[in-house]
Amino acid sequence: MSRLLPAIALLFLPAIALHAQDTASVDADLVKQSVSLRNIAMQNSNAWEILESLTQEVGPRLAGSPGDQAAVAWAMLKMQDLGFENVRAQDVTVPHWERGQLSVQITNPHPQSLVAVALGGSVGTGEEGIEAPVLMVQNLEELAKLPASQVEGTIVFLPGRMERHKDGSGYGPAVAKRSSGASVAASLGARALVIRSVGTDNNRLGHTGAMRYDLAQPRIPAVALSNPDSDILEYQLSQGQPVSLRINLSARHLDPARSANVIGEIPGSDLPEEIVIIGGHLDSWDLGTGAIDDGAGVAITMEAARQILLSGKRPKRTIRVVLFANEEFGLSGATEYARLAEVEKHILGMEGDFGAGKVWQLASRVAPEALYKVEAMQNMLADLGVEPGSNDSGGGADISPLLKAGMPVLAPRQDGTEYFDIHHTANDTLDKVNRDDLDQNVAIYTALTWFAANVEGDFGRLPVEETPESQ
Ligand SMILES: [Zn+2]
Repeated sequence: MSRLLPAIALLFLPAIALHAQDTASVDADLVKQSVSLRNIAMQNSNAWEILESLTQEVGPRLAGSPGDQAAVAWAMLKMQDLGFENVRAQDVTVPHWERGQLSVQITNPHPQSLVAVALGGSVGTGEEGIEAPVLMVQNLEELAKLPASQVEGTIVFLPGRMERHKDGSGYGPAVAKRSSGASVAASLGARALVIRSVGTDNNRLGHTGAMRYDLAQPRIPAVALSNPDSDILEYQLSQGQPVSLRINLSARHLDPARSANVIGEIPGSDLPEEIVIIGGHLDSWDLGTGAIDDGAGVAITMEAARQILLSGKRPKRTIRVVLFANEEFGLSGATEYARLAEVEKHILGMEGDFGAGKVWQLASRVAPEALYKVEAMQNMLADLGVEPGSNDSGGGADISPLLKAGMPVLAPRQDGTEYFDIHHTANDTLDKVNRDDLDQNVAIYTALTWFAANVEGDFGRLPVEETPESQ
């Protein structure tokens, strides 16, 4: 914006003018280098091999589980193998929950076993299980309005459906019932919560995901039916007779466990103290092998950094790859990283955590005076079908604490049309990833990372957001 102002006007805008001297244009050589790295990465990417190694050797890696520890060891070795420097593990304490066994049956009026999964963090039912009449309520708002007399002693069923959208925007509205449904139901005396899975598929697989208990309410078990099994329950409920369910779940909470953020770097040549941070989360849910969530993000960002190493050119700034611990179950790794980080040295962040679909848009959140740099990056990706996005991106879950502390972000937005068919299910496996799309991601991350690590001047700072903890 400020580059449109005549130079004289800048004299009267000292706050903006701090960065305005370098707003004339972006160095054409840097754009050329970035595009050249991008094109090499597209042909030469090893991201598939990284993802294959993580999913087929380590597999599921739920926070606190033996798989989680194996993933940390894998990441340390892999980063060293790939040639990163300063490879280290940053200790993180994570919750440790075990899924146990689950069975769900309609006992009345037409007995049938249903396919379901426990929501992450749910308590168990005890050995005796729970059998109770089902009360179907369309959504959380309606549930909250019901008198306790109507809810008491029932199993509450929330059948809301998730909408399919390219940008994943159906997830937010659909996920509230998963996160907080159990406590809303419990506050009215319900004995358990059953939801239609938060997912867009018609596979006979439930979608898990984190749920949280309101500490002021009793903790009741919470499970998700697969979408076709949700149809069965809805059908029986629509026939006018009372419907009962029986749930047996042996999930349990164990003591918190140790995990780690795994960090590796390409140290900068001229400005080594300035950091461009890229990464994804190392943990996954336990049902699949975490290929799209978030093995893809891990592989894309590790490989993008490796492409820069392979080029033999040193970036001016330090490129830091961070594989975060426990994103799924409460952002433990992201919170700990931000607590220990010198955030002001992080000039830009980029996170991959939306699978491996083709990038179709580049969004951002940078200071207004640095927007011309984002525009230059958008231009250099246009021939790959990447459209300019808005400058109000949230960046991603794991870098959100850094963003709230003022760090600008870039957000290559991926096609998520099919992401929620698989997300958090046993179907999250390597075969669902398209290698060409994965490599398109690598190429884009490589170009953007190189650009950000070498561009003249930074991306400004964002306003610091107050968090409840800091108030
Ligand atoms: Zn994820």
